Amino acid sequence: MLSYRTIADAEVALGRSLTSAEALWFDYSAAKSDYFLFCHNILFLFLIFSLAPLPTVMLDLARPAGSDRFKIQPKVRLSSSEILKCYKDVMKMFFLVVGPLQLVSYPTVKMIGIRTGLPLPSLWEILAQLLVYFMIEDYTNYWLHRWLHCKWGYEKIHKVHHEYTAPIGFAAPYAHWAEILILGIPSFLGPAIVPGHMITLWLWIALRQIEAIETHSGYELPWSPAKYIPFYGGAEFHDYHHYVGGLSHSNFASVFTYCDFIYGSDKGYRYQKKILGKMKEEWRTGNSTQDLKAD
Ligand SMILES: [Zn+2]
Ligand SMILES: [Zn+2]
Repeated sequence: MLSYRTIADAEVALGRSLTSAEALWFDYSAAKSDYFLFCHNILFLFLIFSLAPLPTVMLDLARPAGSDRFKIQPKVRLSSSEILKCYKDVMKMFFLVVGPLQLVSYPTVKMIGIRTGLPLPSLWEILAQLLVYFMIEDYTNYWLHRWLHCKWGYEKIHKVHHEYTAPIGFAAPYAHWAEILILGIPSFLGPAIVPGHMITLWLWIALRQIEAIETHSGYELPWSPAKYIPFYGGAEFHDYHHYVGGLSHSNFASVFTYCDFIYGSDKGYRYQKKILGKMKEEWRTGNSTQDLKAD
């Protein structure tokens, strides 16, 4: 809820005119409580979990000509009923754990100082904070995820997330309830250390989940804009972690590749990539020699 009754009051308090984005924010948020604004995350997460996986899931079901070469594990296909089951399981967990967790975490969000008022943060402030949140999340998630691969953590908790050895977008939030709570900590840590505006928090939660859905999509699409992000892991990187399964000691990081590189947990992945690259090259040159012979 904003502490100004009118836009004129806000402009007097700020000593300047409101930008058009600030005027929009005033119109939208002035009469809404901070708690209600924070709870928008529940709606955003519901929409992201339901809609963001659809493009690659449709691609999987329709299989248009040429799409198989972008599929990371082309031999593994889920039926439409298996895909629907995955979505239903995720929704069950969403209404039982994710949603309620958002509802009860508001006092902590208030305590760390997430603000809803004016002025709005600049674009640079938002981008800088998002970068910090992603880096903090990536580092802490790396170690918690590594711990979840110890015998106890895997058997009791993390095994559920690994039921999909060739993941699809819907399987990104598919996990044991305890994992949802544990891996909620890295997501919360960034905003706790560098608190920002509610809009930045919305963006952070939304982007992190979209990124997780992309890395579980099962498709390595060459036109993905994420390819231009330095050290970004992407779908192929995390897919390898699921492909190897419970014994996996590779590719623990959630977003970037540098933690696995620094701590030496990407050796299996790099070796497999090298071998596959060699095989592809041999197959390609073999084929082109045959083409020449045929000519
Ligand atoms: Zn894992
Ligand atoms: Zn995963």
